Amino acid sequence: MKKFSKITVAAIAIITLFNFAACSKPKASENKGAGNQTVGTNQTDNGKKSDSSNHTTQPNPDIEKLNAVYAKMSSRFKSEVKIEEPYEFLADLKTVLEAEKQYAGDDLPLYFLIDKTHTVGADYEPKNLVALVKNDDYVINKTTLSLRPDAAKALSVLGRAAQKDGVMLDVSSTYRSYEYQKNLFDYWVRVDGLEEAERESARPGTSQHQLGVAVDFGSIDDNYDKTPGGKWMYAHAAEYGWSLSFPKEYEDITGYRWECWHFRFIGVEACRFQKKWFNDVQQYMLEFIDEWKKS
Ligand SMILES: [Zn+2]
Repeated sequence: MKKFSKITVAAIAIITLFNFAACSKPKASENKGAGNQTVGTNQTDNGKKSDSSNHTTQPNPDIEKLNAVYAKMSSRFKSEVKIEEPYEFLADLKTVLEAEKQYAGDDLPLYFLIDKTHTVGADYEPKNLVALVKNDDYVINKTTLSLRPDAAKALSVLGRAAQKDGVMLDVSSTYRSYEYQKNLFDYWVRVDGLEEAERESARPGTSQHQLGVAVDFGSIDDNYDKTPGGKWMYAHAAEYGWSLSFPKEYEDITGYRWECWHFRFIGVEACRFQKKWFNDVQQYMLEFIDEWKKS
């Protein structure tokens, strides 16, 4: 967006609003008429939109922005994420960004990207952390657990849903302060050496746990997905807005080896969006949204 003048930006904003208000999701037949605007297969037509009832043919700024953001993604992202229905994608993106507004508006956005290169400071602590106490919804394995209010509420809903299926979830780790994460990382460096520690433990300022939206369940080891809790989480977590952050065979993307016990709350809408468009890889979706917001 930097290359545009202010006037251009304003004009794009007006056109964008008009497009969303007037035709947020064209019918399939209209999509076909949009000139094979598949993103990720080099079949775009620079965002020129035409349909049979149309009077004007003009660049669609959202399609152009989509192409620009997509172009910035990694080569593996591009090999796995193909946006074959860009108008449908944009409508879903709008839904998911709207959904984000319902969560902790006074804190970092729910989809905030944090990883080895996107960090928060030592002084960042979520607002209004909720201490997790003994309750009927799930088991707490420690008395020092806490989460952001939206994640805490969602964890209760998740726990109650699991119990309806006869499964009791147990919560082992939640919010971690910068200082705590620093000690934890240093501990794993001492135990496993730096290289191994980097694969499984986050450096301070880079952990989803510092955001107060991530939970480690059960045993915090590779056997968790074979337990009743792990199996249930794999099958149902997304229905309640919880997403596996570090899936198998994505270490080059997430920076971490498979962690079957670590889930992040991102909301039901984002879980659907992730599954539908991003090969169910949370990191892909959060990187895309981050770039979209910055562009
Ligand atoms: Zn974790």
